[in-house]
Amino acid sequence: MTELIQRRDLDFLLHEWLQIETLNRHHRYSGQDRATYDGVIDAATVLAEEQFLPHAAKLDANEPHFDGERVHLIPEVKAALDAYIEGGFLGTAFDTEYGGLQLPYTIFQAVSALFTAANIGTSGYLFLTGAAANLLRAHGTSAQRKTYMEPMLAGRWFGTMCLSEPQAGSSLGDIKTRATPLPDGGYAISGNKMWISGGEHDLSENIVHHVLARIDGAPAGVKGISLFIVPKYRVNADGSLGAKNGVRLMGLNHKMGYRGTTNTALSFGEQGDCVGELVGAPGQGLACMFHMITTDGSVTLQ
Ligand SMILES: Cc1cc2nc3c(=O)[nH]c(=O)nc-3n(C[C@H](O)[C@H](O)[C@H](O)COP(=O)(O)OP(=O)(O)OC[C@H]3O[C@@H](n4cnc5c(N)ncnc54)[C@H](O)[C@@H]3O)c2cc1C
Repeated sequence: MTELIQRRDLDFLLHEWLQIETLNRHHRYSGQDRATYDGVIDAATVLAEEQFLPHAAKLDANEPHFDGERVHLIPEVKAALDAYIEGGFLGTAFDTEYGGLQLPYTIFQAVSALFTAANIGTSGYLFLTGAAANLLRAHGTSAQRKTYMEPMLAGRWFGTMCLSEPQAGSSLGDIKTRATPLPDGGYAISGNKMWISGGEHDLSENIVHHVLARIDGAPAGVKGISLFIVPKYRVNADGSLGAKNGVRLMGLNHKMGYRGTTNTALSFGEQGDCVGELVGAPGQGLACMFHMITTDGSVTLQ
């Protein structure tokens, strides 16, 4: 079989050029060495070749479809995602405090390159989820990390990024989705989002949408944009799942490449039934969201 990525190239980049193992001078990576990194890359190579690569062409030819009730995907996708999660790869670069391996982000990128090369459609759900969890690690409160980030890192819940709207792509200053303050400190979310990768599926117990919206009365343009957590299912105080949260799938988009990652048009709060939680400060939504985009690597905004 052709190698997904020439191992000699990876070894050259990581060890000869970047000299990655010298990072172990830092407390965060102490005790790690070349054998640590090679072991993770070896395991990722086997998993990518055995569980991701074999169904890549089948997934491309059988893209997700929506029957009006549910989104259907070929079963190999969930099997591969479960194997990745069980292998602990979601936590590759996350702190041991959160159950991660605390390896350098560069090693996570090397591992991700293998899965992306094997099957970009199936990998999409994982990279979005890791990046959504990472956003909360950086900008969430400790309660938000406990409630939303930890289930994402455990692979029980998946994540998305909801920036684009039918009338706003690059021009994010034009987004119209609204967030109306509620007496309990939450927000009622209403609006439409477009091109949202991983926006709907049954691959995880819940989906944590990171949604850009304008709080009522916010200034026009990007300075008026804030970031909200909007779960598919509401979350009870004990972390269990509650009722559906008014996020409706309007349809799946067909697009070239990335076919296996559902790409969705979503409507929020059509019947005033969608609540969200503010992440970070009001007006800082774009700055917080860019933490997810730039540390994700699988999504590039033009
Ligand atoms: C595979 C895929 C997955 C996606 N997943 C998500 C997702 O998960 N969540 C999400 O929110 N969005 C997602 N998107 C949408 C993506 O964020 C938008 O496509 C992107 O923001 C560009 O917007 P647009 O497509 O409307 O293009 P436009 O904004 O219309 O841009 C079209 C072209 O015009 C150029 N252009 C735009 N404005 C200017 C300007 N002022 N000056 C000069 N040139 C300009 C752009 O560079 C581009 O070449 C996804 C898109 C793709 C292709």
